[in-house]
Amino acid sequence: MRIVITGGAGFLGSHLCEALLKRGDTVVCVDDLSTGQLSNIEPFTNNPRFSFIAADVTVGIPVVGEVDAVAHLASAASPPDYHRMPLETLAAGSRGTESALKLAHSHNARFVLASTSEIYGDPLVHPQTEEYFGNVNSIGPRSVYDEAKRFAEAISMAYARTHNVNVGIMRIFNTFGPRMRPGDGRVVTSFIAQALNGQPITIYGDGSQTRSFCYVDDLVRGIVAMIDSADRGPINLGNPVEKRVDELAQIVLDLTGSQSSIEFHPLPTDDPTRRKPDITRAQTRLGWNPTVETSVGLKLTLEWFLRNRQEVADAADAIAGAQFGGQEAASVLAGGDVDNNAPVLEAA
Ligand code: UDP
Repeated sequence: MRIVITGGAGFLGSHLCEALLKRGDTVVCVDDLSTGQLSNIEPFTNNPRFSFIAADVTVGIPVVGEVDAVAHLASAASPPDYHRMPLETLAAGSRGTESALKLAHSHNARFVLASTSEIYGDPLVHPQTEEYFGNVNSIGPRSVYDEAKRFAEAISMAYARTHNVNVGIMRIFNTFGPRMRPGDGRVVTSFIAQALNGQPITIYGDGSQTRSFCYVDDLVRGIVAMIDSADRGPINLGNPVEKRVDELAQIVLDLTGSQSSIEFHPLPTDDPTRRKPDITRAQTRLGWNPTVETSVGLKLTLEWFLRNRQEVADAADAIAGAQFGGQEAASVLAGGDVDNNAPVLEAA
């Protein structure tokens, strides 16, 4: 198969390129490198079945020749990134998704959308099943990502109904692993980088909020299964093992042996309180199950961070200073709408 991957130089995208190349597919990676990195795809640039096109998908996707499938992953995905690039994030989810759908339509190709657990917002149903419509604040700071992805699902369904495009919607939950940017501001990367740099571990809120973390290899198997199927979805892809954020901090401290202290910062506006996928659909319809335990995945991720110590050290300022959840950043980004009841800078 010849598969176009938008956002192919990003964290997830580059792992997807690698998995598809490994099984013999031809891969066209399209990325504007706004959050993706050439270093992520550098290992396979010499593969004759791989090509890279630097392009902004919101303008168009200049791919010529046969296309069997389009996987649309292009978007900022970490909260600090989409807060830094709100208009670009909205454009990637809306105009970018339409470009990718047009490409799939014109080639009669399978189209898979990387949607997100953010569809469920701060969920009132737990664990989240695909039937749940969500609880999203359409005007809050996270809405640039959440609503763009909700629009992306809507326009994908409209192309399926109107133009008979073979659409598959995946709702991807928190995923982690090698090639994440140490300074991307997400919780796994920040905690590992802070532990290695001897910086305080920054917990937003009281740390009781939960996420369910899926190792990247598991997630990519799910995306590949979705590409190969004709299932329209939506299908949740994620690891259903739920962890509190303060629990994650402790696991990272234990794993690294770091002496870093723990600092509490205000919870960002609309930060989801609980998140855990119901993966019955993925299990029954795709035959998919995550297999890598969070602690094992964290160890593999730590090893990668240790191999990239300079990048981790260079990210220290970004992690310490410009965080979305940091008090100053939160007050700017949330328009002053900060949770003043959250503990600030209390040592644990
Ligand atoms: N978080 C945290 N400290 C950090 C970064 C994130 O406590 O340095 C929290 C964040 O508030 C959220 C959770 O960790 O509750 C997951 O955040 P992340 O940005 O990784 O992804 P999200 O699931 O919110 O998109």
